[in-house]
Amino acid sequence: MHNERWRTDNEHMRGRFAPSPTGQLHLGNLRTALVSWLHARSLGGEWLVRMEDLDRVTSSRANETDQLRSLAALGLHPDGQVVRQSERFELYYAAIARLRADGRVYDCYCTRREIREAVSAPHNERVGELPEAAYPGTCRTLTARRRAELVASGRRPAVRLAADGERFTVHDLVAGVYSGVSDDVVLQRNDGVPAYNLAVVVDDAAQGVTHVVRGDDLLSSTPRQRALQQLLGLATPTYAHIPMVVAPDGVRLAKRHGAVTLHDLAMRGVTPDRVLTRLATSLGLCGPNEPVELHELVERFQIGAVPTTPWSLSATDL
Ligand code: GLU
Repeated sequence: MHNERWRTDNEHMRGRFAPSPTGQLHLGNLRTALVSWLHARSLGGEWLVRMEDLDRVTSSRANETDQLRSLAALGLHPDGQVVRQSERFELYYAAIARLRADGRVYDCYCTRREIREAVSAPHNERVGELPEAAYPGTCRTLTARRRAELVASGRRPAVRLAADGERFTVHDLVAGVYSGVSDDVVLQRNDGVPAYNLAVVVDDAAQGVTHVVRGDDLLSSTPRQRALQQLLGLATPTYAHIPMVVAPDGVRLAKRHGAVTLHDLAMRGVTPDRVLTRLATSLGLCGPNEPVELHELVERFQIGAVPTTPWSLSATDL
């Protein structure tokens, strides 16, 4: 099943998998990668991998190499160069500059603590409409004097979007209709690092991505990404948010739950082929003990048939 050539006769369809190289990929990440790959291949499209290594403290090249190896072990080979967000800061800064020129950003001097307090303040009337824990816009209305004090204090600002509370509705291929209000999301952290929501929007557009498949923990971020696409004049991809994989304790699967990476599983004698069967079974694409090849899965795959409930691993699975 390795190094197989795939038809890419639909140059307009381009999917992608965009992991953060902060550790090894676990079964949940691999399952999302598989769905993204199957979706692209079943439509004759291309499939890209982008390393979301904005945070250079938590990301590493070793993790990146390891993640690509895990994908390759399952037969998931990206088309074209793997790009790294850490090498594309200029693109993100240009997008922020454009938003600033349009008067759509503001500097935010709040500390984490101040943000926590502002978010939970009872007099915050906009909160009902905004996503959970949305920043209520304190620094949008600073007096010139207060702003001057903050600048003089040496605090470095983050850059936030000045959202206008517009509601966006997403027609998600798996999660269905989802609607949410865009908020004053951080575009650049106060250490100068561009933020995920900005970078992902810039990159998906720059790379010509037409279909985004990712974990449904990011569904609630989609309205703010739609807002940014609109403000930057970028096309909106089609979204498919895949339910998480949950461990026996009911929480989202993580490394601490046990044998959840290809390395852990290999130590127990579980081969990548076996993992592929397990992932495909969880997607309703094959029987629990059925050996499968990727090309067979491509034929069986339909994005609309991806289960909409989380995949619960049992204790014996781990
Ligand atoms: N880098 C994100 C993650 O690993 C995914 C971002 C995306 O797919 O939009 O959770």
